[in-house]
Amino acid sequence: MSEGFVLSDEMEMLRDNVRKFIKKEILPREQLIDLDAPFFPEDIQKEVQQLGRELGIWYVDAPEKYGGADLSIFAQTIIAEEASQHRMGAYNAAGGAFGFELPNVIFKGTPDQIERFAVPTIQKGGSGFVGITEPSGGSDPARAIETKAVRDGNKWILNGSKIFISAVEFADWGVVYARTSEGRNGITAFLVEIDAPGFSYKPIPVIRSWYPKELVFDNCEIPLENQLGEEGQGFKLAEHWLTKGRIPYAAGCIGIAVAALKMAVEYTKQRVTFKTPLADKQAIQWMIADSEVEIKAARWLTWEAAWKADRGEPFKNEASIAKLYATEVANRVVDRCVQIFGGMGVSKEFPFERWFRELRIKRIGEGPSEVHRMVIARNLLGERR
Ligand SMILES: Cc1cc2nc3c(=O)[nH]c(=O)nc-3n(C[C@H](O)[C@H](O)[C@H](O)COP(=O)(O)OP(=O)(O)OC[C@H]3O[C@@H](n4cnc5c(N)ncnc54)[C@H](O)[C@@H]3O)c2cc1C
Repeated sequence: MSEGFVLSDEMEMLRDNVRKFIKKEILPREQLIDLDAPFFPEDIQKEVQQLGRELGIWYVDAPEKYGGADLSIFAQTIIAEEASQHRMGAYNAAGGAFGFELPNVIFKGTPDQIERFAVPTIQKGGSGFVGITEPSGGSDPARAIETKAVRDGNKWILNGSKIFISAVEFADWGVVYARTSEGRNGITAFLVEIDAPGFSYKPIPVIRSWYPKELVFDNCEIPLENQLGEEGQGFKLAEHWLTKGRIPYAAGCIGIAVAALKMAVEYTKQRVTFKTPLADKQAIQWMIADSEVEIKAARWLTWEAAWKADRGEPFKNEASIAKLYATEVANRVVDRCVQIFGGMGVSKEFPFERWFRELRIKRIGEGPSEVHRMVIARNLLGERR
């Protein structure tokens, strides 16, 4: 937690540990893999995960009794900003060394579900997927979801499809939201195993090198005991986790912006045009100054959201503000850094073009910018607008 305008000693130490870890363990290993590889090969992955476990930063959001580190949102936010400062960026923060994102709503499941699904995944360093978005739209999923779940004796039968679902290829299971009745309260969550009968998936090529998947449910059979939470309560169950997740998501984008700006500042001191370094040109100085101001503002907004969430105060509005602002700032900062580097900015020799592509998605995933603006405006104008 922060104390006024400074970080507590504990948070400073956490930040320094992660910073050193990225520099010592992740940056050199990233030199060994393809420039656009989304992940480390399995052997390196295992190696860095062992180091992550030893550091005590392992599944930061999962309760300790299930093998996680159970850190505060503030601590997760501090980690996320540091852990994204390398080529693989926020999508594979710290190269997976601290574990991957889990659909944390699993911790609202029964003890048996947590033991069967979450615990083995945390032990092995795996991930799970979250299936919400459908071809009918992702901005307003409570209305758009058409995938149907119908009860048949001792199982549920799912029919329909999902698009743009991340992390399916590494997962043994995922949480899928399907319609069990009409209306906004007609959505139920299900734990779907990767080998469930009638379940298949295929990649959807997108701007980043790690492709999300289309999921197809063709009379897909789900045992009754894999229903997560009560019938019709799918989104109520997930809302808290989804909102919370936006805060470290914002911090990951800030981390990329910080790394990009650092590189750009150094470059401007060395690169000479018209007989003087770029650093001497006012047009360049303004790009650097604007980036610094926006990064700082984004960080404070993100910290405020984390602080409120940890204090148990309402934080939905602050999480939307942080997500909206940080993702848009990171896009602007990396775009400016591309410009400062000129042709080298779009060369694969530097990470900017990769960050540029990844960050573009960040304005769409976890609620697009427009939806967060809608949340913020509604907070001021009232729901009925
Ligand atoms: C790489 C990638 C990974 C993803 N991973 C996942 C995942 O793991 N799980 C998952 O469930 N989903 C995932 N998504 C989906 C993502 O959450 C959706 O793309 C997002 O929610 C937007 O939904 P949509 O694409 O259907 O756009 P739409 O809902 O069709 O919206 C289109 C555009 O209209 C805007 N818009 C919508 N409503 C309004 C409004 N009222 N006012 C103004 N503008 C509006 C939106 O902001 C958007 O810009 C992923 C997407 C991508 C690209």
